[in-house]
This record gives sequence, structure tokens and C-alpha cells, in this order.
Amino acid sequence: ATMDGAMAQATLCPVCGSDQLTRTAFITPAGFAPDLNAKREVDRGQAISYAGMTDRARLEPQDPPSAWTEGYGGRLLRWTGPRRLVMVNKGVGQRGFRVCPNCGRSEPEYGPGFTATKLMKNGAATSHQHPLEKGLVCPGVADGPFYLGHEFPTDALLLRLRVSAPVQLGQAATTGLLTRASRMALTSLVEVLGLAASRVLQIDEGELSGWWTPVMGGRPDEAQLYLYDLLPGGAGYARAVGNDLPEVLDAAEALLGDCDCPSSCYRCIRHYGNNWIHASLDRHLALALLRHLRMGELPSLTDEDKDRALVALRELLALRGIAFEENVDLDGTRVPLVIQLPNLRACVDVHHPLIDPLAHESPVVAAARAKFLEIVSLDAFDLLHDLPAAVARLKLPNAVHG
Ligand SMILES: [Zn+2]
Ligand SMILES: [Zn+2]
Ligand SMILES: [Zn+2]
Repeated sequence: ATMDGAMAQATLCPVCGSDQLTRTAFITPAGFAPDLNAKREVDRGQAISYAGMTDRARLEPQDPPSAWTEGYGGRLLRWTGPRRLVMVNKGVGQRGFRVCPNCGRSEPEYGPGFTATKLMKNGAATSHQHPLEKGLVCPGVADGPFYLGHEFPTDALLLRLRVSAPVQLGQAATTGLLTRASRMALTSLVEVLGLAASRVLQIDEGELSGWWTPVMGGRPDEAQLYLYDLLPGGAGYARAVGNDLPEVLDAAEALLGDCDCPSSCYRCIRHYGNNWIHASLDRHLALALLRHLRMGELPSLTDEDKDRALVALRELLALRGIAFEENVDLDGTRVPLVIQLPNLRACVDVHHPLIDPLAHESPVVAAARAKFLEIVSLDAFDLLHDLPAAVARLKLPNAVHG
């Protein structure tokens, strides 16, 4: 069976296998779909358009290409060719749109952010002014809610990323397969590749766009990233990026590495066109992923990175009256934090969010084990963005008295 057939029948998510699959009817109203005879206009996605946001175009689930070009030790596979993309407008509050099948009048679904409904009255469809013929009342019954969407063929560059242990993007049990840190790394990598490509090809920023997806079938060590031409039908840029990939990756690495901001800024990977995801852009995560893919390098943390990640935890321990020591020397190895509980001394190390600590024994973990000491390795991303998750791993007593 083809992917299209399988998708129509699917009751489980084809990517992660979850049974929490929801479907929303999707219609392509005239005037929303691009007319190939009309002036070709670039829809950059995420611009505020009529009633709600148009999401960035997504690659449609479709049969994967059969022949990938392999490179970088099997960690980076590429393919260029025609793909179908879909762009969806989910309306105000993602509630979709009501549409009258008789006259074509459409409006966002009633609710917070949109209350000036003409098609509905007390939750039921009502007669309404015809949108084109003055004075005419349309008796049509509005239907919905629907998402508005259009599908378009374009040229795309697909990059299949495959990390190797102990580098990981997620675990089989991770919701949506990929961790939050991996999602930020991938989001940042898409942005920097678009910017780097525009410089190498000397085209405007925003002629190329892209996004990423988990890989069908649920492999947490893989992800797919794609860049596509924004002009319907394709202008050949995505193909050119594929041909000049080493140069584009060099330019991307320079953009990520030659800045001194803590996560992202307008001198590196932020620009006006990606302001809706500025909070998700982290040049360090993208650089660690890119260097692993290109050179097989293992992401690591400096002593300063570890100290910065532990600031909030140290404050929390102090508040709860739990004794701890910083930078303890253990036979020449620096342990960033040692927690003293009533009947237990626990060493704490910090690992890079793209590293699986169970698959990689750090020098700190090895030194603690050699002395038969308790050792916990905490994820730097959790420590900075989800302290309760990190604290849960420490199994601290609820309250310490005295
Ligand atoms: Zn899923
Ligand atoms: Zn109508
Ligand atoms: Zn920066």
C-alpha cells in the first residue's frame, strides 16, 4: 500500500505510534489556493493573515525517497526533488473556520478573540448577508469548523539526520519521540541552514524556508529536516543547497560559533522572519548537533557551563536547608556538586542534553564509582528549563529539619 492510503486509514500516529491522533477536516477554499496563472506571490508563513496565523508549510506525509545520498559517516543523508507541502491556517485560537457552502462566506469559529460572528447565532447556523451581492440574504447553513489549507508542490531538500550513541535526540518513551532540547536544536539548525544558504547562494533571506519532523516509524536517533523554495513550483534553490551542502554547512557553523550571546541574537540566527520562535533558538544546541553530524564530535560541557546550569539547584538546596559543597576534588577530578543528606553523600554531575548519560560514563561518574560514592548525572537543559524534573531525579527528602 502507498503512504497516502495508509495515512487515510491510520488510527495510530504514523510517526510515533501514539493513539492520540486527532483529525480535523481540511478544505481548500477558492482564493486561498494559489492560482498558477495569477501573479506568483510568496507566502512566507507565520505572517499574520486573515483571521489567525498561517502555519509554516509542513512536509506532507508521503512515501520517503528511495535513494538517499549518504555522507558524513552515515549521519547525514540528503535528497532533493519534488515534494508536496501543506500550509494550514487554523484560525483564531486554532478553532478553525465556519464556511457557508452556499455563498462561500467564511469566518473564524466563535470564541475568545473572535465574537463578531455573522454565520452563527446562539451556537446554531443562521441566515446571513451574502458577501458579494449587496442586500441579498443567504439562507445557507454554515458548516465546520474546518482548517483552511492548501497543498503545493515544490522543490525540497530533505536531510536525514542520524545521531550515534551516546548522542541521542530522544528515547522511545519520550513524548513525541524527541526531547525539548533536541527540538530546540533542530529548530535552530533549520533557521541557521536557511540563513547560511541565502548567503552562499546570494539570495534574499526568506526565499527558502524549512522545518523538521520526527522520522516515520519512531526512531528516536533520527530526525528529518527539510528546506524548500517558497515560490510555488520551486525556484531551484533547495536543489542548489543540496549541491553546495559542504559550503552551506561551513557557513552555518560559522554563524553559530562566531557569536558570544547566551542563546541567540540578531547577530547570529535571529531575524525578523523568525521572531515567532526566538525563544526556541539556541545556537549552542544547534552547533553541538551540527558538529556531531559533520565530525562525529561528542557534545560536551565546560566547567563554566556546568556551574551555570547548577545555579538554580544550589539556590533551591540552600532554601531547603540541605548542605552541599561545590567543586569537590576527588583524586584530581572536579565534581561540580556534592550534596550532604543525613545519611548519604551524593555526587552530582551535569551532562549535555544531547548525551545519554547511561551510554557514556563521564570522568566525574567514573571517579565517583571508583570510590563507591552515590552519583547522579543531571541534564543541563532540565536544570535550566525544568528544575522540578531535575530535582525529582535527586530523590531528596521532602523536608530537612535542624
Ligand atoms: Zn505522533
Ligand atoms: Zn451563505
Ligand atoms: Zn548571537
